[in-house]
Amino acid sequence: MSPEKDNLCSCYWPEKILLLPDSPAILDEITGEFRWKNSDDEGYIVFKFCPKCGYEIPKISRDCIDGIPKEEYIELQSTLKNIRSIKEMTKTYGKPDKEVIQMNYLKKSETVTIHIFKDCDEKIEILLRPKSADQKRKK
Ligand SMILES: [Zn+2]
Repeated sequence: MSPEKDNLCSCYWPEKILLLPDSPAILDEITGEFRWKNSDDEGYIVFKFCPKCGYEIPKISRDCIDGIPKEEYIELQSTLKNIRSIKEMTKTYGKPDKEVIQMNYLKKSETVTIHIFKDCDEKIEILLRPKSADQKRKK
C-alpha cells in the first residue's frame, strides 16, 4: 500500500527536520502533532500537512528514514554532523573501505558532462550526465 494512496506524506521531511540540531520542530508525544516553535519561543504552529510534499503528516512513529532504521539514522547523523573535512572523517572512522578518484569533463560536449570514477583497483566507471539549462548557458 503506497502512502500517497492514503494522501499521507512519505518524503520523510518531518522526521529529518525533527532530527536537526536546534530544530524548531517538536513532536508532541501525547497528541503526535508535528509542531513548529514560534521564533519568540512562545507558542507554536501545528503542521497538518507536509510543507515539502503537501501530503498529510502521518503520526510520526515510522521506524525507518529512507530505508535506514531510525535509531541508526540518528546515531550516524549525530556523529557525522560535525565532520567538515576528509581529515576529520578518517580521524573518526579510520581508513575508508574504498577510495574513489573522480574526474569531470565539463566542456567536451554542449549537452553532456562526462564523469569518470576510478577506484583503488584501477577499475573505472564512466557516467554521462545531461547538462542543466543553467550549465548549457554558461559553457
Ligand atoms: Zn512530505
